[in-house]
Amino acid sequence: MSRLPTHRFSSPARLALSSLLLCAGGAAAQVTATPAAPTYDAAEFARCIAGIRSDAAKAGIPQAAFDQLADVTPDMTVLPLLDSQPEFTTPLWDYLAGLVDDERVADGRARLVEHRALLDRVAAQYGVDAETVVAIWGVESDYGRISGKRPLRVSLATLACHGRRQPFFRSEFVALLKLMHDGDLRNRDTTGSWAGAFGHTQFMPSTYARIAVDFDGDGRRDLVDSIPDALASTANYLKRSRAGWKTGQPWGYEIKLPAGFDTAQAGRTSRRTVAAWTALGITRVDGGALPAGNTQAAILVPTGAKGPAFIVFSNYDAIFSYNAAESYALAIATLADRLRGGSGLQTPWPTDDPGLSRAQRRELQTLLLARGHAIGEVDGMIGTATRRAIQTEQRRIGLTPDDGRAGVRILDALKAGR
Ligand code: CA
Repeated sequence: MSRLPTHRFSSPARLALSSLLLCAGGAAAQVTATPAAPTYDAAEFARCIAGIRSDAAKAGIPQAAFDQLADVTPDMTVLPLLDSQPEFTTPLWDYLAGLVDDERVADGRARLVEHRALLDRVAAQYGVDAETVVAIWGVESDYGRISGKRPLRVSLATLACHGRRQPFFRSEFVALLKLMHDGDLRNRDTTGSWAGAFGHTQFMPSTYARIAVDFDGDGRRDLVDSIPDALASTANYLKRSRAGWKTGQPWGYEIKLPAGFDTAQAGRTSRRTVAAWTALGITRVDGGALPAGNTQAAILVPTGAKGPAFIVFSNYDAIFSYNAAESYALAIATLADRLRGGSGLQTPWPTDDPGLSRAQRRELQTLLLARGHAIGEVDGMIGTATRRAIQTEQRRIGLTPDDGRAGVRILDALKAGR
């Protein structure tokens, strides 16, 4: 179901989390079925687990405790997920349409009100504003609603002993058991994503060990059941990122590019001063002021010169470090802006078939069900069955490309009774 884009491997601290919501948001559905899981050799698996005892001992887990915690039956169905590669690329506008929709904005604004005092304390202690923290919460787990259903001990033990990333998962497995042994995690059957990210903010165990804080003062760091711990830990992550969170600074702004702007100058790591960019004719779309001229900044044109463009500062890098993907960082940044009351991007995406919000995805699924397609429940998740049904309808109506993608065109066609 969920998949692990290769870019996540470039950021081992944060492997895998919002693959959960990619799937939940339907942006990353795949047409092909997941290949069958391989089988395993029980004796070999037991030897592998026994071979991790010394690492566990070094981490401070006594052998008896380790043997008890590590006593699991592997789940080989995680292995095809490790190797699955997306066979088609999700357009950025689909990704953002699902992750930054009116529903998630309204939910986030409600969370800002509900947790105002807590978020103020987090901001005072870590210097990170409430909207950024809540945006990460919303994108990572839909505000705690979706945090993964696979037992973490099982998935991580399996990946520690099989597949192509064993050393990485071995240390994550040990880190997880250490959290359980130390009492941060009381539930041994804690679940998460297939790759081991879990809790409100989808930390990997090693990130949890390094970054999580006990903010509600009950003596343990609990990112599964404590919203204060989870939100403070997110802020702590940003504060301690290499870019370091700069209190009160914006992540960036949507901009207007001057005519003839050479997009080869864009890119997150191509930094110039704001003064240099301004001299090229760059301005904010809303006409507002840019930071001081000597501020380092980069220009992003994620869908080319005709799509929305952005100027970004070092807080954008801090967000990017949470999960190294431009699409992810832009989702957080633009959701945070909408939580501040912003109305969203002013420049349309360069497409005549924009992406769908979760509400629209549910509407599309309802229409497909009404036409007799067996797509299961209406859940706003565009999985294989929904995608196949869309493809069938695209062919029947004569829409091209007949790619099974959930966009406005197929939704409008079905709504119009075509
Ligand atoms: Ca706590």
